[in-house]
Order: sequence, then C-alpha cells, then structure tokens
Amino acid sequence: MLELRPNCECCNRDLPPDRTGAYICSFECTFCADCAREHLHGRCPNCGGELLPRPQRSAAALARHPAATQRIHNPQGCNKVLSA
Ligand SMILES: [Zn+2]
Ligand SMILES: [Zn+2]
Repeated sequence: MLELRPNCECCNRDLPPDRTGAYICSFECTFCADCAREHLHGRCPNCGGELLPRPQRSAAALARHPAATQRIHNPQGCNKVLSA
C-alpha cells in the first residue's frame, strides 16, 4: 500500500492524498508537480528513479486506510540535482 506522504520533499508544500498534483518514485519519495517537472525533470534526486503521478485515494478509502502523516523534507537532495 502506498504511504501517501503529506508533503513535497523539496519545497515542503502540502500534497493532499485525495487530490492530483503529487509525483512519486518507486520508493515513494514524494514531490509536487512543480518540483518534479521544473527542478527534477522527472527524476527522483534520492534514487534516480522515474517520477510518476501519484494515484489519488478516495475519502472512503482514506477513512479505512489513512495517509501517512510524517513529513519528510529534504531540500538538499533537490539542490544537488539543480547544480548538477
Ligand atoms: Zn515541491
Ligand atoms: Zn526515489
């Protein structure tokens, strides 16, 4: 099951689990659409994997299987890609 992390690892923006606009890699590193496209060019800065749109989870499913609440903020990883 996907963790559905609550924020972008680069810019710390909120990414609600029931909305579009979040991108994840196969390890569920999570980014907003702006960072994924503009800064990271579709590559995860942590593992080098492809970033793809995260599927939404409906409110009913969220009630049974809540999204993760632990925020992961790792702007260094994003800066590394920017200067590479
Ligand atoms: Zn972001
Ligand atoms: Zn990753």
